[in-house]
Amino acid sequence: MTAINAEDEVVGLCRDLIRIDSTNAGDNSGPGERAAAEYVAEKLAEVGLEPKILESDSRRANVVARIAGEDSSRDALLLHGHLDVVPFNAADWTQHPLSGEIVDGCVWGRGAVDMKNMDAMILAVVRQRLAEGRRPPRDVVLAFTADEEAGGNYGAQWLADEHKSLFDGCSEAIGEVGGFSVSIDEARRLYLIEAAEKGIAWMRLTATGRAGHGSMLNAENAVTELAEAVGRIGRYEWPVRMTRTVRTFLEETSRVLELELDLDDAEKTVAKLGPLARMIGATLRNTANPTMLEAGYKANVIPQTAIAHVDGRFLPGYEDEFFETLDELLGPNVTREFVYHDIAIETGFDGPLVRAMADALLAEDPGALAVPYTLSGGTDLKAFSRLGIRGFGFAPLRLPADLDFSGMFHGIDERVPVDSLRFGVRVLDRFLDGC
Ligand SMILES: [Zn+2]
Repeated sequence: MTAINAEDEVVGLCRDLIRIDSTNAGDNSGPGERAAAEYVAEKLAEVGLEPKILESDSRRANVVARIAGEDSSRDALLLHGHLDVVPFNAADWTQHPLSGEIVDGCVWGRGAVDMKNMDAMILAVVRQRLAEGRRPPRDVVLAFTADEEAGGNYGAQWLADEHKSLFDGCSEAIGEVGGFSVSIDEARRLYLIEAAEKGIAWMRLTATGRAGHGSMLNAENAVTELAEAVGRIGRYEWPVRMTRTVRTFLEETSRVLELELDLDDAEKTVAKLGPLARMIGATLRNTANPTMLEAGYKANVIPQTAIAHVDGRFLPGYEDEFFETLDELLGPNVTREFVYHDIAIETGFDGPLVRAMADALLAEDPGALAVPYTLSGGTDLKAFSRLGIRGFGFAPLRLPADLDFSGMFHGIDERVPVDSLRFGVRVLDRFLDGC
């Protein structure tokens, strides 16, 4: 087999993947992930793996492959990345989002951050290791999924329901939205590793009243009823709830930044975190934001019903409290139903896998400090957690201090520095040695 250098190869893999259109608008109308899946499968087959392409629907393709480790009696590790990306408006971008251009030392394009960068890093590392005959210490399962950006019904959720056996023996996983650096000063960087995710509750609220003429007395006006409920929900101040991930994050960062930590006033500490405050602030409490309103069709007609949508997010361990509170805020005359509902997850920031991540970072960046954090959104990890897998967001990237990386998820001008990709490959390689 010809020699493969992952650090050299990762950039080309990332550019190739960006150029394959796999946008996912959420209505199953797009190009699908088939072309990207075929590309990935070919790259894996070239180094002797036997990847399976699994289609959940026409062109909605997933790729799963298993690498035999030195000790297959140990539990396996899952490495997962999604192949779809969110849509874009090309006119807003400096470089075309499907170009994969390299400008100013960065690879540009939709997916450069979320998450064709990590897909490319996984591919590059695995290819070099297999070409060199370096097996991981335990079995590693690779999953490249469809449809993460729309809830995973054609991707991870479907795999977890229909193809469980592909993940036999997997106890741990690493995936997206974590492992990137946030600079403290010249010498030190925090690497935020995702150890928890908030749960999701998108809800449709319906108030039903008595329809009638707008000139008449009407004490059962659905619009009034709904508006009051929406107002109560939108203005409610959810109490701060300290989860173990947030506590560990605050303890560690306060220590490093030499901030005074008052766990009874966590918001004060978070406010001092600068750009991190935006990411961390929403993980101190449940939230429920009204997002859509719909009622009526004429100024002098009181409609029978009025509808609103609310985006609810609950912390791990606080789902019951979330819905109890929400039902009180709704009042007796407004009902709710789910548009989308998924679990919250959390795992402890301890054990050999966490050490392997922290050690691999430290070996490549002596100023690295790995800290856990809670993601306010969701990833494929929710689906894989249903198979009993504990997971982390760990797509390691050492980033320039002035790059607003978290702001580029689903944003315009998504780009990832070439040097960061090369760094990530080195870290992942060490991590796989130590996993
Ligand atoms: Zn993503």
